[in-house]
Amino acid sequence: MDFNFKKYIEILNKLFRKNLSSDDITISKDIKTQIDKRPCKVPFERLEIYPDGEIIPCCPDFLKDICHAGNIEKQEFDEIWNGKVFSELRKKLMKKDFSYCKRNICTSYEPYLQQKIPSDYKKGPKEIRITYDKECNYNCITCRDEVIVNSPEKLDLYNNVYLPKILEAAKNLECVSLSGAGDPLFSKHLKNLTKKLIEIRPNLKFILITNGYFLNEETLAELGIQNNIKGITVSLDAATRETYKNIRRTDAFDRIVKNLEIMSRWKKNGKIEWLVINFLIHSLNYKEMPDFVKLAQKLDIMASFSTYRPWPSAKLHEQYDDVAVFEPYNKEYKKFVKILRNPIFKDKKHCSFQQKLLEIVSS
Ligand code: SF4
Ligand code: SF4
Repeated sequence: MDFNFKKYIEILNKLFRKNLSSDDITISKDIKTQIDKRPCKVPFERLEIYPDGEIIPCCPDFLKDICHAGNIEKQEFDEIWNGKVFSELRKKLMKKDFSYCKRNICTSYEPYLQQKIPSDYKKGPKEIRITYDKECNYNCITCRDEVIVNSPEKLDLYNNVYLPKILEAAKNLECVSLSGAGDPLFSKHLKNLTKKLIEIRPNLKFILITNGYFLNEETLAELGIQNNIKGITVSLDAATRETYKNIRRTDAFDRIVKNLEIMSRWKKNGKIEWLVINFLIHSLNYKEMPDFVKLAQKLDIMASFSTYRPWPSAKLHEQYDDVAVFEPYNKEYKKFVKILRNPIFKDKKHCSFQQKLLEIVSS
């Protein structure tokens, strides 16, 4: 099963037009004021490598005309980083021209607002987000209908074409984010890449986006990154073993919670900066949202809520209208809003929401 980037964007755009009007989701006035004063720094600092080697200056959901800046399979890294698309976007941003951006929904630039544009940005990105490798030990219903393991040919391509180019681009690198498409602690290629990166850049920081199954000291030590973790996001989507099993098709809720307990201690001791558990909201799990915050409180970590987005490799996307309880036209919308009014969601230390939901929580 191959990821179809164009199809994904088509689906997203269709849904954005249909369901996510610009008025539905707005960035806060504070952020608007700040970004009006400072240009967005994202394309000066980071890039993302998507399936099929596509390189995008920031999240494709936030760019109006998807900026295909190049392809790692066909081009050299420098040629892309200092190429036409990145240069044009940077020039526009310097003039505070956001004509490429869906500014009303973009949240990517927020963490970068306080930073200056790095004077040496032409040398290469400070951060790379690696989201091209879909190899994962899970097949969650929101993501895919079968477990994806790289074929020998794909593995060969990743190890012999992508990997050397990423190592070459690592000269200015401070942080690598893995993954968002598969599991970085399961994928043979990503584990190989991680070991090689840490060999040449021993101070490199890593952000892990994982299902948490292999999130333990042994795996991190095997990769040599037990002291190099900046932050970890674990996608959980449930507060009970049963719902977890139904959504993630793996009976491992208790195992993940145990792993989270260890990582929570690491966070408490300052070994990692942040630890987040993700909850992708849809009809199968929204009633567990308050209990999910309780779990985050118990672990003293952050629960992050966002709405389900359709992923074409999973059949569930065909039932979007039925499962999207956060859409006002959904038959369970009222029940969903009632749940969001629970005072537990005011605990800002342990829960965060995407802007669209925040407006309901704070109303
Ligand atoms: S404002 Fe948002 S969409 Fe535009 S370049 Fe910055 S991060 Fe990307
Ligand atoms: S959602 Fe994450 S854990 Fe689940 S199949 Fe997709 S990549 Fe794997």
